Amino acid sequence: MKYLVTGAAGFIGSHLCTRLAARGDEVWGLDDLSKGKLENIEHLLPNTNFHFVPGAITGEEVRELVAKSDIIYHLAAVVGVKHYVEDPAKVIEVNVCQTLRLLELAWQLGKKVIFTSTSEIYGKNSEVPFHEDANRVYGPSSADRWCYAVSKSAAEHLCFHYARRGLPLVILRYFNVYGPGADTSAYGGVATRFINQALNNEPLTVHGDGSQTRCFTYVDDIVGGTLEAGSRQEAEGKIFNLGHRRETSILELAQLILAVSGIKGEIVFQPYEEFYGPYYEDIPRRVPDLSAAEEILGYRPKVSLEEGLEKTIKWYRDKAIRK
Ligand code: UDP
Repeated sequence: MKYLVTGAAGFIGSHLCTRLAARGDEVWGLDDLSKGKLENIEHLLPNTNFHFVPGAITGEEVRELVAKSDIIYHLAAVVGVKHYVEDPAKVIEVNVCQTLRLLELAWQLGKKVIFTSTSEIYGKNSEVPFHEDANRVYGPSSADRWCYAVSKSAAEHLCFHYARRGLPLVILRYFNVYGPGADTSAYGGVATRFINQALNNEPLTVHGDGSQTRCFTYVDDIVGGTLEAGSRQEAEGKIFNLGHRRETSILELAQLILAVSGIKGEIVFQPYEEFYGPYYEDIPRRVPDLSAAEEILGYRPKVSLEEGLEKTIKWYRDKAIRK
């Protein structure tokens, strides 16, 4: 099979390309390297069945890439909460406008699309676990945090627009993915940010009182579910949550990272506003209903949080030695 992966040099995109290339499939990995890093895909460059294409979805060459692919995995997006509060225009331009262009091309050329959406789409709906049909509950538009959920919501509407006109399509909503290669900066997710702080002997910065929860999902499980979504016809036209059922508070996560790493680090509590500025609002709980993914994709997350953190910490420790 021939695949186009957008956002190929990003955290999840690079893991997906690695798995597809290892299967012997032909993969074109598109990335403009605005957020993605070449180091994430360097190991793939010698493979004759992996072709890195530097560039944006708006580029001239994208029509040709879509034309020669059987399936398009669309992962390119602006992700990371600090980006949402600092540059909503970029979030909307990339996540909505560029998705529209790609969907239009895929529809014109009759190619299947796997669109990666987000658990953020449920917003602050308090009725967990979130079924795929759950309501989306957002705060005011003056709180820029919601621009990401709104952008992915708009993109999902675009997906259904084309699906109803015949585009074969699957929507995946990822829940707090972590693992080797994730962004460790202030713009990345909390798990790898805490790991980075612990490994650098810095205090782990828990926002608020740390009682807010997430369901952290190891990248290999996410990629497994994503591949199944691409290969099962019965998934077409549907939305699937991909995540893990274990609900963990942010304070618990910080404690677990210290325990698993064996680092005697400090945990400090930081006010939200100090980190994000005034245009932020947190989501108190986020838990997936996984029944659709289990039933139709055969999805079973295998990696426990302890095991996943252990693997991730080891990877970042080894990386520090390699440097
Ligand atoms: N968070 C934290 N310390 C940090 C970074 C994030 O306590 O250094 C919190 C953040 O406020 C949120 C949770 O961790 O409550 C998850 O944040 P993340 O940025 O991973 O993404 P989200 O799940 O909110 O999309």
